[in-house]
Amino acid sequence: MQELTLLLKKYFGFDSFRPLQAEVIQRVIEKKDSLALMPTGGGKSICFQLPAVYLPGTAVVVSPLIALMKDQVKGLTMNGIPAAALNSMMPEGERQQLRQQCLQGKYKLLYISPEGLLNELDWLLARMEISLIAIDEAHCISRWGHDFRPEYAQLAVVKERFPHVPVIALTATADKITRLDIMDQLKLHDPQLFISSFDRPNLSLAVHRGLDKKDKLAAILRFIRHHKDQSGILYCMKRVDTEAVASLLTTNGIRAAAYHAGLSPSQREQAQDDFINDRIEVVCATIAFGMGIDKSNVRWVIHYNMPGNIENYYQEIGRAGRDGLHSDTLLFYSLGDLVLLRRFAEESGQNEVNMDKLHRMQRYCETDVCRRRILLNYFGEEAGQDCGNCDVCRNPPQQFDGSILVQKALSAILRTDERIGMQMTIDILRASGRGDLLQLGYDKLKTYGAGRDLPFKVWKEYLYQMLQLGYVEIDYANGQTLKATPSGRKVLFGQAQAVLATYREPEEVVRAAEKKEKKEKKKRPAAPSPQPVRIIEANSPEETLLDALRQLRRRIAQQDGVPPYIVFADDSLQEMAQKKPLSIDAFAGIRGVGEIKREKYGKVFVALIRHVVGK
Ligand code: ADP
Ligand code: ZN
Repeated sequence: MQELTLLLKKYFGFDSFRPLQAEVIQRVIEKKDSLALMPTGGGKSICFQLPAVYLPGTAVVVSPLIALMKDQVKGLTMNGIPAAALNSMMPEGERQQLRQQCLQGKYKLLYISPEGLLNELDWLLARMEISLIAIDEAHCISRWGHDFRPEYAQLAVVKERFPHVPVIALTATADKITRLDIMDQLKLHDPQLFISSFDRPNLSLAVHRGLDKKDKLAAILRFIRHHKDQSGILYCMKRVDTEAVASLLTTNGIRAAAYHAGLSPSQREQAQDDFINDRIEVVCATIAFGMGIDKSNVRWVIHYNMPGNIENYYQEIGRAGRDGLHSDTLLFYSLGDLVLLRRFAEESGQNEVNMDKLHRMQRYCETDVCRRRILLNYFGEEAGQDCGNCDVCRNPPQQFDGSILVQKALSAILRTDERIGMQMTIDILRASGRGDLLQLGYDKLKTYGAGRDLPFKVWKEYLYQMLQLGYVEIDYANGQTLKATPSGRKVLFGQAQAVLATYREPEEVVRAAEKKEKKEKKKRPAAPSPQPVRIIEANSPEETLLDALRQLRRRIAQQDGVPPYIVFADDSLQEMAQKKPLSIDAFAGIRGVGEIKREKYGKVFVALIRHVVGK
């Protein structure tokens, strides 16, 4: 094990293993099979890359996405580990040359697509010395998983052909049936299952609901300004929204692009490439974006609409903070989303399952207990305590007796014979005087203007709460009109009390949370998995240094033709800005600095740090 730890530092610049990495690696080295389940960013790659370095021969890594392979090959090469990817896009001459090099044992790792593997089985792979076979995104083999790929189905052949080569299957998503199915389909020999916690404590969680479009866009702008120069992804349900938000951001001086299936492949590639290389900060995307990019320094994810289920939501927010540094996530949710998602679920052919998943997603959004607990619980994990890093924990809701508000709303709803939706209910309460309201004679109602004292958005929030508490329900089949429920009637007739949570401005929530976070950062105990890194304060000398380090990283990345995060991850730069290493030896102690990077970049980085701190 000690030797492995030394190799980890030498090649990857890390001092210690993440949870389960060492156990999985040990198993591979003993030439035994395993299935490793780790969340995105959990550090799956090291589980096969390190044994590949340690064992004689070449590790064969099966991966479905060319972009991901390329990325990993670049990263390995930069760390002095010879690696290559064999893919069908290469001209035959080049492939031939690569095969020869493989036979000479030039590579420690060879990445290959599942089809490629099947093609090369009889000739190339039969002749190579294979140290281990890693099957990435292994859930693609299972029809139970959400991402079945037919070309994965034939991978059982691997174990038949190479019974003595250890196979390690890896995935970030697999429920119980899928897990068993993976081990079964791959015909693994006596496999050991490794499951690491799905918790991502470095991701903050927050939900804002019921904002109208204008307020939502304003909140997004504030959020992004607060995350100046940081990479982020904004997910929208509709293509038009990706374009609208991207153009709004652009007019506000934020470098952003849209990404959706309606764009040409070259436009999409351009957006992805610009994002990976930090030429743009924000991608506004439909869900099509994110698969197959490994960018470790995505600092935030916003959901412009509510996702249809928790699996998708978790996978999407999981694209932030792979490097273990603090990252923020924010979800906007409205009744409109819900109506649309219900329709999708109904039309999906798997009505019941999808509707149930949608309900669970909605409950997550509406909860007043720690959101992380709900997420972990959903994935079958027990959270021992509240997380302290979600909006509910940071700002527990404050309750008050809202019976009168419920009575006002319900009486408006009942006096109009339950024929009105949320908008009209509020307009009646606030005496808006809009045309159709007057035409219908709603201004004659006793409740007209009974809720003038509260702004529109506050009423909206309280109506959401009434829905959530079951005083009111939505008739989806009938133009989303509101209906009074039996428990709502009880409140109306004074037989029960309604407890609501005080409305707070989203801005206020954000600010209060930030203040509290700053205070807590000083006393917060070490985060469970990633090493805690102190966050650098805005406008501090450290931030000036960090900016300079980023610029240097970008210059080097351009020169070497790789994405900046492959030169150094964000956490390495942060550590440099904090520790300010003034010698090569001190520089070598920074996380992510292996031997090759010390040699290659030590001098320039130390020189820059000396220059900035004036020594
Ligand atoms: P996954 O494939 O599970 O999504 P990766 O293998 O891409 O995750 O690793 C996520 C990030 O964590 C990468 O930036 C990687 O360099 C970093 N990492 C992995 N193992 C360690 C470790 N032992 N110590 C520090 N950082 C690590
Ligand atoms: Zn919490």
